[in-house]
Amino acid sequence: MFRILSVIIPLLFFSLKLHSQLFIIEHTNIVDVKNNKLIRDVSVVVENSRIKDIQKNTSGYKGQVIDGKNKYLMPGLWDMHTHTWNARYFFPLLIANGVTGIRDMFGSMDSINRWKKEIAEGKILGPQIYASGPLLDGPKPIWPGSVALSHENQVASIIDSLKNKLKVDFLKVYSLLPRSVYFKIAEESKKQNISFVGHLPNQITILEAAHAGQKSQEHLLSFIAESADSAEYIAKASKNLLTDSSLKNPLARAQLQFATFNPSKLSVIIDKLAKSETWICPTLVVNNSIGRMRDTIFTNDPRIQYMMPGMANRWNPANDFRFKSVPDTYYHLQQKMFDLQLKIVKEIHEKGIPLLAGTDYPNPYCFPGFSLHDELLWMVKAGLTPGEALQTATLNPARFLAITKDYGTVEKGKIANLVLLEKNPLENIEHTKTIHMVILKGQLLGKELLQQLLQQLKQD
Ligand SMILES: [Zn+2]
Repeated sequence: MFRILSVIIPLLFFSLKLHSQLFIIEHTNIVDVKNNKLIRDVSVVVENSRIKDIQKNTSGYKGQVIDGKNKYLMPGLWDMHTHTWNARYFFPLLIANGVTGIRDMFGSMDSINRWKKEIAEGKILGPQIYASGPLLDGPKPIWPGSVALSHENQVASIIDSLKNKLKVDFLKVYSLLPRSVYFKIAEESKKQNISFVGHLPNQITILEAAHAGQKSQEHLLSFIAESADSAEYIAKASKNLLTDSSLKNPLARAQLQFATFNPSKLSVIIDKLAKSETWICPTLVVNNSIGRMRDTIFTNDPRIQYMMPGMANRWNPANDFRFKSVPDTYYHLQQKMFDLQLKIVKEIHEKGIPLLAGTDYPNPYCFPGFSLHDELLWMVKAGLTPGEALQTATLNPARFLAITKDYGTVEKGKIANLVLLEKNPLENIEHTKTIHMVILKGQLLGKELLQQLLQQLKQD
């Protein structure tokens, strides 16, 4: 199988034998992500895959001792918007960066179900995965591999087979869904007891999706467009009700929307959205990179060396059907819109709408693992405190996925997916990168092993 396994597996069995019974992280500081404070100088006992105890004094326990002094123990991170089409490269990057859980938003369920099994059996190192499988899109889908839906009468059986045959954890709706099909998905997903998330379809408004029960909206789609004073005018133009044909061009529409953005309209939308159960996954990393993917700071990013061969080529806009023929003005507009999106995230957060950290890897310059830390930094730049940013990748994902019994915090009884840091992330969010050790379902992965995981990728 993977060449990397020949290195990892002996190490794994080695670590399993030595450490899986019981170990104690002594005198460490727990990052309490519920209350955004430290619990100082406590010892954490891990047995098999769970946190067995947390005490000031754990002298009653016998096991391997890990010195946690002057270190900070936080929950493993979640990336809530991923496309994991390669395990060999992506899993080591996730684990080495302390990302121990992902929400996969479009990928092959054959691969994902196989990886889940191999991870559970201890054959490969990988994160906890929740996955959507294929996209639900309109009759002419944007991406190959999507489910093409043109009529509502297709919906019930498709949802049944996704849920029961492919074993998806939730559904992902996409941009080109017709309105009637979208609302049928909303109705049928309630009946079949499965949630739906994803893009805001072009034909649906933010509040319509919220009221239909779409659990999360990705990428901040339509926040600027719907807040524009020109929104009604553009809607008429797209329905060919006006003679102004210049607005047929999506770039011209976006420029007009941006130029006529009205913050008070935005506030009305966000106020109403806050009364719904909607979660927002802004994917700031990808929203930023699509505006700057020709900049040398991106094209020379040293982290490209950890990606599979050919990735830099794939990320070249000239080779991407979405970007190959867009003019310079497109990139300039994207950059200005991104600055505005940071302000939108701030208001979404201040009005109490819960946020999820997601990167959308492997879109251009979105790196598995590394970019989750970038997403947290963007959250802070948008106006969240470091603790609030950390919640978007720990506690919030666990709440969103309804798995707080096992994940999301460092507490007794939870699965031991943990990251031991050298510096306090509540002081500076970039301290999440000072990883000393990752604990993956109770397995200790020290700094050296994590470095080896990365080195192995570089050699390929
Ligand atoms: Zn995506």
